[in-house]
Order: sequence, then C-alpha cells, then structure tokens
Amino acid sequence: MASKTLVIIGNGLAANRVLEQLGETHPFNAIHVLSDEPVAHYNRIMLSPLLAGETTLNTITPHTEAWYQRKLIAVYLNQNVAHIDTDRQQVICGSGNRFAYDALIFATGSRSFIPEIPGSESTNVVGFRSLHDVKTILERLAEIQHATVIGAGLLGVEAATGLRSHGIQVTLLHRNPVLMNRQLDATASALLKKELLNRGIDVRTGCSPLELCCDDAPARQINGIIFEQTDHHIRQHQNTDLVVFATGIIANKELADNAGIHCGSGIQVDALMRTSHPHIYALGECCEFNGNTYGLVAPIWEQASVLAQYLRHYYQPCQQSPVNTAEPLPRYQEQHHLTKLKVSGVDIHSLGQFEPDSSTEVLQLLDEHAGIYKKILLRDDRIVGALCVGDATDSHWYYELMQQGDSVTALRPTLLFGKAYC
Ligand SMILES: Cc1cc2nc3c(=O)[nH]c(=O)nc-3n(C[C@H](O)[C@H](O)[C@H](O)COP(=O)(O)OP(=O)(O)OC[C@H]3O[C@@H](n4cnc5c(N)ncnc54)[C@H](O)[C@@H]3O)c2cc1C
Repeated sequence: MASKTLVIIGNGLAANRVLEQLGETHPFNAIHVLSDEPVAHYNRIMLSPLLAGETTLNTITPHTEAWYQRKLIAVYLNQNVAHIDTDRQQVICGSGNRFAYDALIFATGSRSFIPEIPGSESTNVVGFRSLHDVKTILERLAEIQHATVIGAGLLGVEAATGLRSHGIQVTLLHRNPVLMNRQLDATASALLKKELLNRGIDVRTGCSPLELCCDDAPARQINGIIFEQTDHHIRQHQNTDLVVFATGIIANKELADNAGIHCGSGIQVDALMRTSHPHIYALGECCEFNGNTYGLVAPIWEQASVLAQYLRHYYQPCQQSPVNTAEPLPRYQEQHHLTKLKVSGVDIHSLGQFEPDSSTEVLQLLDEHAGIYKKILLRDDRIVGALCVGDATDSHWYYELMQQGDSVTALRPTLLFGKAYC
C-alpha cells in the first residue's frame, strides 16, 4: 500500500495523543487535522487550573507549529465537519471544504449535557468543557457576584473551587448525597465537603435544579435558581448570576451515525479502534467499546497507543494486509484507573473499587481532624481499590500493586501507612 492521507476529525487530547504516538516516521504522506474550535490544541484537563487562574493558555498549549510541520501535519481551525461521504472517502466541512482520506479517525470527543429545565437557554448559562466556556466565565467575572455550579463530580468540584478562588460566592448543587459519588464513598465525601465549606463554598447535596429564573427578553440574563431538596421536596430559591452545568457529557457521535457507522451511546469500535466501516477509526470520548464510553484520559492514552500501532502497521508502504504480522498487534482492554481531583491543597485520589462487597475486606484509617482518610479494598489479599484523602503520597504505589495483582499478605500490617513503612 503506497503512502496515504490520514484525516482526523477533532484536535483534542485523543487526536494529539495519536499524533504523538505515530511519531515522525509515520506511514502517511499527509495528515489533515480538522478542528471546529478557533484555537490551537490545548490540554483540556488543564481548563480547571486555567479557570482558577493557576496557569495560562500558553502553558497548556503543548505543540508548536514546527512540531506539526515536522510530522507533515496540517491543522485546519474553524472547520466543522458536517458530512462524511464514505463511498468517495471524503470529509465535507460546513465551509464547503473537502478532504479526501485513505484513513479517517473520529476524535470528536463529547459535549456538556445541559438538562432541559426552564431557563437553561438563558444568558450566563454555560457548560464546563471548552476554552470558550472558560473564557466566557472569566470575561464575565467582573459582573458576577454569585455563581451556581450544578453537579459535584470531579469537574463540578473543580469548577466551584476555581470560581471561588476569584472571590465570588459559589453554591455547589449535587443530586446525590455523596460528592464525586463515582470516585468517593460517604466518608471521603464528608471530608471533601468540610474542605469546600471551609473555602466558603455553599455545598448542597441531595438537591436538583428545577428552574433557572431570568430577566425578560431580550436580555434573558440569569438572576436566580430554584432547586429542590429531593428527599423532602422542599423548594428553595437562590439569587445567582451565573450557572455552570457539570452534569455529564454526551459523545459526539452524530456525524458518524449519519454516515451509517454503527453507534450506540458512542461510535462503536473493536479492540483495534476500528469502526464498522473500513478505514474509519474512532477513539476518545466519542467512542464506545464493549458498551463503555469514556470521560477520563487514562483509557484514551491506551486507545491512542493501540490505534497508532495499528495504523503504522496497516498503512506502511508495501503492506497489503494487517493479518500476516509476526508480532501480534496490541488490543485495547478495559482497566481500572487512578483518578485525581485537581484542586490546589486538596489531595484526593481514587482507584478501582471503593465500596466493599461480600468478597472484599477493608483496611482503613481516618483522622477527621487532620482530614486524612485512607481506605484499601482487598480481595483474596490483593488490592482491588483504594481511596486516599488528605495524603495521596502512596496512591500510585497502591495502583501499581493493584495492577500487578500480587498478594499483599506480607505488607498488610503497614500497608495503610505507605511504601516507606513497608
Ligand atoms: C475542565 C475539565 C477537566 C478535566 N479533568 C480531567 C482530569 O483531571 N483527568 C482526566 O482523566 N480527565 C479529565 N477531563 C476529561 C478529559 O479532558 C477528556 O477525557 C479528554 O479531553 C477527551 O479527549 P477527546 O480528544 O476524546 O475529546 P475532546 O478533548 O473533547 O476533543 C474533541 C475535539 O473535537 C472537536 N470536534 C467535535 N466535533 C467536531 C466536528 N464535527 N468537526 C470538527 N471538530 C469537531 C471538538 O470541538 C474538540 O475540540 C477533564 C475535562 C474537562 C472539561
């Protein structure tokens, strides 16, 4: 197969990780990256520190123009891909531009889910997803006295602390009684809540938004929120002039769906990141593998590595088929990952299973006053999960032990105190 053209839709973390993994000796004679954003690739994870004023856009923009040029990559900004012609192997942008491909990667990520409650279309209602969202918030800070963040998952907590660091009043609403309930148990959540309250954030758990109140047209500026304490059906009103939704994400799969590519909640891929169509691949938050979709980068790094190796192999000149390979190609597999909250001064790491079941044992220590909580879950004397709050020095070590799957019987007496004591 002669050298070919690769087109990538999206210029986020997944796309750039594939480009990094492809290296400078990739098999394509041209790579076109099409982005609907107006700015160069930035590290989306670092939008939280950017909102908090702890970093700059320059610092979180990892690749220079020279970096792309060396790899024969052309990046096209403001190019919203509107249609894929799979018969002609062409990508068609809203601008009318067309790009022919031999290989096509969907790296279209996801978008904020904003529930359709009355008022959600008003001015000063934003998601927390893109540089545009963060710029919108920062530009309006001067006129904002009170902000409400809806959803206290990882993103919501980071958004609330980021906003609070600018000195404005912040209410954080969360439907579940446990903050970051996908990563934390009730004890860890209580410690986090205490820390957020200490920072002056008004934390309301077990509460759902019912309505956003706004000025009359044409301004339709937010001026309040009505929410309900779900257990007691008590309604409350809070004056607020900014609402940030951190209530989940929706995979950007519609483009693929309209092209007839198989989709569920995301674009369905196999363990080599191949979609149902030949020469079309997907990875990152837009994809679905074995019924799972993604919201964190660790699995995306693995997907990028798998896809880059596959592309290097399959599209290398003179290679006719991916089948006759001496080395088997790596395949994507689901794994547990380590999740970290990125709030300065709050160390919270979570990995694997954190709620015990009938087959697990729990080792834990709690010092409420010092805000330190460690919990390790063991099954057959092997680590299957851990929570570290207030002191996360050993979370990576616990993660390694979990990955290795070895017995920790010999380490048990001092395991909670960390590697230094074992
Ligand atoms: C504020 C914030 C903090 C986060 N913190 C963490 C963290 O601490 N740890 C962690 O693991 N994860 C974190 N995440 C999640 C992580 O950022 C995502 O998992 C990751 O960015 C997903 O990468 P992606 O490339 O799949 O999607 P994206 O980064 O969303 O990139 C997709 C790109 O495709 C573009 N696009 C979509 N459709 C089209 C189209 N039709 N035409 C052209 N372009 C298109 C989009 O505009 C976007 O630029 C955080 C996310 C946010 C928003």
